[in-house]
Amino acid sequence: MTTVYIPTALRVYTERKSTIDISAKTVEELINRFVENYPQVKRHLFAEDGSLRNYVNIFVNDQDIRTLRGRATEIADRDEVSIVPSVAGGVDPLPSLTQDEIRRYSRHLILPEVGVDGQRRLKAASVLLVGAGGLGSPVAIYLAAAGVGRLGIVDFDRVEESNLHRQIIHKSSRVGASKLASAAETLAEINPFTHVERYEVAFRSDNALEIAKDYDLVIDGTDNFPTRYLVNDVSVLLKKPNVYGSIFRFEGQASLFWAEQGPCYRCLYPEPPPPGLVPSCAEGGVLGVLPGIIGVIQATEAVKWILGIGESLLGRLLLVDALAMRFRQVALKKDPRCPLCGERPTIRSLSDYEAFCGMPAREDSGASTDDVTAPELAELLKMEQIDLIDVREPNEWDIGRIPTARLIPLGQLMERLNEIHGDRPIIAYCRSGGRSATALAMLRKAGFSSARHLQGGILKWSELVDPSVPRY
Ligand SMILES: [Zn+2]
Repeated sequence: MTTVYIPTALRVYTERKSTIDISAKTVEELINRFVENYPQVKRHLFAEDGSLRNYVNIFVNDQDIRTLRGRATEIADRDEVSIVPSVAGGVDPLPSLTQDEIRRYSRHLILPEVGVDGQRRLKAASVLLVGAGGLGSPVAIYLAAAGVGRLGIVDFDRVEESNLHRQIIHKSSRVGASKLASAAETLAEINPFTHVERYEVAFRSDNALEIAKDYDLVIDGTDNFPTRYLVNDVSVLLKKPNVYGSIFRFEGQASLFWAEQGPCYRCLYPEPPPPGLVPSCAEGGVLGVLPGIIGVIQATEAVKWILGIGESLLGRLLLVDALAMRFRQVALKKDPRCPLCGERPTIRSLSDYEAFCGMPAREDSGASTDDVTAPELAELLKMEQIDLIDVREPNEWDIGRIPTARLIPLGQLMERLNEIHGDRPIIAYCRSGGRSATALAMLRKAGFSSARHLQGGILKWSELVDPSVPRY
């Protein structure tokens, strides 16, 4: 008989047994018998094509079977076989827990599905979180609280007052401070045992692989399409799981993408929507609690994946409607024609995601020759007739506007081009300059080659020209 050591995470399927005796001549025969006796274990050990999942390592005595003859490795009586599901690089021994950690995580430790092994696995795990905003706040807080050992966070924004209704990792006293510094301060209070690595840069094609390569999994806390596709492509190229979440107004989505075993984000959405069709949270608004719901789901999926327990959202898209308070799910399949993870992939490296999505990754108020500054616009409006086009949404228009402007929301601009005659200089504006830059590109394409837009949007107008216009 050979003794098989069962990891904590699989004991739920083995009637809580930690060891099982099986007689077999090879590892292959042994695992087949094991799976026959405990069929629920099968999908945890094997991928759909029958290969051993690559986060499962098998040891005969102290030898990894990959260094022996794989599944054909012969075993003798009284050999010991260990099944070691891993997220921490396999053969590395898991770190032990200190007394302080044992006290802190005691409610985890008494869960059979977590236990000391699981908590050590969390301690050994590393998670990269892209974005310390609405989704990133609850994700970071819960992952740190749960004892994830290394948490990398990418963000280069500063805390704004309008972030605080949902980005609960930040505080009123930190408005104007860097989001990373603010997040690190909160996380240090919550769990000093979590090591936070800060990447105060834009997540871009030229740094994303280098940043992500040393992490076990990636969490998508982005708020724009270029970065979302970048997060997906980096994860697929590095063969890492990508815990996806997105929010808009009252609705959210979540899933776990992992091209090694299921679909990726491009299998679901091969191409981004055209610019202007789907507004960002800054443009369309979001219910403050919604990123809490979705972010906590993402954190849950990450913890489950690290522990190797439960049923993940792999192959399922969870749809949350907070107004109706309905949770639905749809099945997701890997698309064999996916340009990234399909049978004949055409994408093998990272590209220019802003060009691919036809929009900047963030609203950019930087100057260029297409710009008019707020004081310049004020002068122009005194001197001549300007076709001043506000491309924001009607509810933003209601908050405040520039006199003599007319409203054409960006999403309607293409079909309302016939309302623009070009007999006067055209200047577009939005909240901070992102949407008007997109509008400008559309107008120029339609032949209005001298169209310009307001640098920094109505926010700059309020700051420099007319403080009675509210900033939001
Ligand atoms: Zn795919």
